[in-house]
Amino acid sequence: MDDRAGKIIQRTISALEHEAASDCENSVPGGVEVLIRRVAGQLAGADISDRARNSLRRLDEDVRGYEGMRIERRRALVSRARKLLEAIAPESSEDSTEKPASSSMSVPGDNPPSTERPPPLCPDDAVTELTGVGPARGEALEALGIRTIGDLLLHCPTRYEDRRQVLSMRELSHGQHAVVRVTVTGAGRRSSPFRGAAAIIPAASGGAEGDLLFFGRPYMVEQISEGDQLLVIGTARIEDGRPAIAVNDFDLASEGDLDSAARIVPVYPITDGVSQNMLRGWIEQALERCPPPDDPLPERLRERRRLMSLAEAMHEMHRPSELPSASAARRRLAYEEFFALQLSIALRRLGAKALSAVSALEVEDLRERLVEALPFEPTGAQHRVIGEVLEDLAAAEPAHRLIHGEVGSGKTVIAALALAAASRAGRQSAMMAPTEILAEQHHESLRELLGPLGIEPMLLTGGAPAECRAATLEALQSGEPICAVGTHALFAESVDFADLAVVVIDEQHRFGVRQRARLSRKGERPNLLVMSATPIPRTLALTVHGDFDISVIDELPPGRRRPESELLTGGDRDDAWRFIHRRVAEGRQAYVVCPAIDPSEEMAAATETFEKLAPGPLADLRLGLVHGRMDRDERRRAMTSFHAGEIDVMVATSLIEVGVNVPNASVIVIENAERFGLAQLHQLRGRVARAGWQPHCLLLSDTDNPETIDRLAVLTRTCNGFEIAEEDLRRRGPGELDGVRQSGLPDFRIACIIADTGALVDAREDAFAIIARDPKLEKTENRSLRSLLTRARSGEPWTL
Ligand code: ADP
Ligand code: MG
Repeated sequence: MDDRAGKIIQRTISALEHEAASDCENSVPGGVEVLIRRVAGQLAGADISDRARNSLRRLDEDVRGYEGMRIERRRALVSRARKLLEAIAPESSEDSTEKPASSSMSVPGDNPPSTERPPPLCPDDAVTELTGVGPARGEALEALGIRTIGDLLLHCPTRYEDRRQVLSMRELSHGQHAVVRVTVTGAGRRSSPFRGAAAIIPAASGGAEGDLLFFGRPYMVEQISEGDQLLVIGTARIEDGRPAIAVNDFDLASEGDLDSAARIVPVYPITDGVSQNMLRGWIEQALERCPPPDDPLPERLRERRRLMSLAEAMHEMHRPSELPSASAARRRLAYEEFFALQLSIALRRLGAKALSAVSALEVEDLRERLVEALPFEPTGAQHRVIGEVLEDLAAAEPAHRLIHGEVGSGKTVIAALALAAASRAGRQSAMMAPTEILAEQHHESLRELLGPLGIEPMLLTGGAPAECRAATLEALQSGEPICAVGTHALFAESVDFADLAVVVIDEQHRFGVRQRARLSRKGERPNLLVMSATPIPRTLALTVHGDFDISVIDELPPGRRRPESELLTGGDRDDAWRFIHRRVAEGRQAYVVCPAIDPSEEMAAATETFEKLAPGPLADLRLGLVHGRMDRDERRRAMTSFHAGEIDVMVATSLIEVGVNVPNASVIVIENAERFGLAQLHQLRGRVARAGWQPHCLLLSDTDNPETIDRLAVLTRTCNGFEIAEEDLRRRGPGELDGVRQSGLPDFRIACIIADTGALVDAREDAFAIIARDPKLEKTENRSLRSLLTRARSGEPWTL
């Protein structure tokens, strides 16, 4: 430390003594807040210990709002400030005599300053190890998901503020967000209480004078005085030619400090009790005290993908030298997260393929036999997917395939094909549906499709009579070549497949990861086909279903019409009811779908809607009601009579979303449509796109939120499920997407599936290539990847 710093400290100490003597009335010129801020700023670059620097930084935080504090608190702060500065003063003079060059050099012997340095930290240490983070702040940080130093270092800025370009008052234009260097030119005043509390302080630079506006901080009048030089960050307003700046943040800047203040500043997500400045300080401290961890990415890979080292990325993320390097840092960290996940996916997939106990199935004339028996000609897309599945089945490795196809695209035919392959090989197969209604429908359709091939599927649901169930169970256990159709009851512990060769799961997103795992334990490694009507954007599919091969049925059977969709907002429900009347008069049927079962404040519950419609607007029609709280028989009776045409309008919860097939239904009215995701709405309207007539979908909503209306309007513009899913992804984020949460989307710290698509695709390619060449990660250059993998598997896709 030089003399200048020593003088600053002495001057500040006497100002504090003065303040203490006048009983802490904030009587020092400029106020205590500014006094401390100034000394902290001036000593920031001085040669003092890190601990001292951090204590100062903390004091600077704590003293904010000094003017409004209780007297006891003010006294305590003043005394703390005096003690701190007094402690720094002798320490710094010793520093200056004994260690003139580098304070980071460790000096042997009993040199006190070197032992004063805070000890180094490692990523697993708790954040409370940081100077300035006590239990209370530790708790506040937990709200941000930050417990350890590693967590803190991965706290990713949401954006950066470029404070390098410093303007003068003269250069401002109205509405501009700017960093401005000014000199205070006179005494400030408080704005009239009628206009909200603010401090208005005159300041000038570049030959122009204007005002600094501190909204909500009228006490700033006392804290800034004529002659002060400030770097302010805020929004410019020009009124009657006079510039003003609504100040968000400011730094007291003497000539030399301008450089350190004028940089690219990270802006972090914050929470109650944790300010931007606190986070910035703690993260800097963590960067200083935590030696960079070993880089888990092999150098070759980094070079090829032009990725920064981990240490550089950490630094550039929090203290970027340039904006592009901040985004390169992000890309590197995102890549690593994706890469860890894709490594584990690649291995899982390898495992699924390698552990095969299923011999290849004979599929020779299966396509011809099946197609011959179909009551229709398969679409081109169906033909293609049939080919892909046949290839899987004929291979020595078990199939592991996801089949995406919109509602009504004809996925059942594909299921039938796989089931038939098992039966013809004299082996067992199973098809699982998410609800009993659906299982029964599948059973029906499969009987029609497979009957001509001499295959009789058996239904196995929880509701089946006990003796019937027992007989089926026994047959399964003895290895009889049964084709079983059912709900998850199929894979209950009591069910024992002796020779399971094929498993088809319909609407797979309805099943949890655990259920899927249980199922694959049933047979050794059966051929597995999962079917989904929920289109998922490709990038997301690579993450969530990364271990599957994917087939897409992107064509509807001929004559199928896309639903015409209309959005009705603001209470014109009568139009909807009139529309239903017209269609019913033509012989059609309709659904009215509501988002919940029970009446609740905002949602039009199915029962409530039913009770309103039955005696009211739809009094002359035959109404039915179906929801998840009804018992199974009631529900089935309701659906059967709707199917038989004994009911005109079925009021339902989103229960009907899944697969129910009533071709004569051509209208779907969806209440409180804003409650649903786009993909889900798209799937709901698919219910009515089942036959030759023009289907209609009416979306009802009382919302007046333009964003919501805009979102719903997407459905009126397009019928392409993938396009809709992309839109949903963009607007709601991956966690909200139907079928994604249930499939176990990992919690990425840095990576974002939407923003980092490129990194995802690269990472997947690299991870799969590495696993293909070195499946056990035995090569020296791949050793470091093991730790990455352990983390990815423990659900923490992170390395630090
Ligand atoms: P998904 O399960 O994909 O929603 P389904 O397999 O239930 O669709 O098929 C929907 C309806 O379309 C069924 O009635 C089915 O018989 C019929 N269908 C399927 N494929 C064709 C086709 N190629 N041509 C005509 N109708 C078809
Ligand atoms: Mg289906």
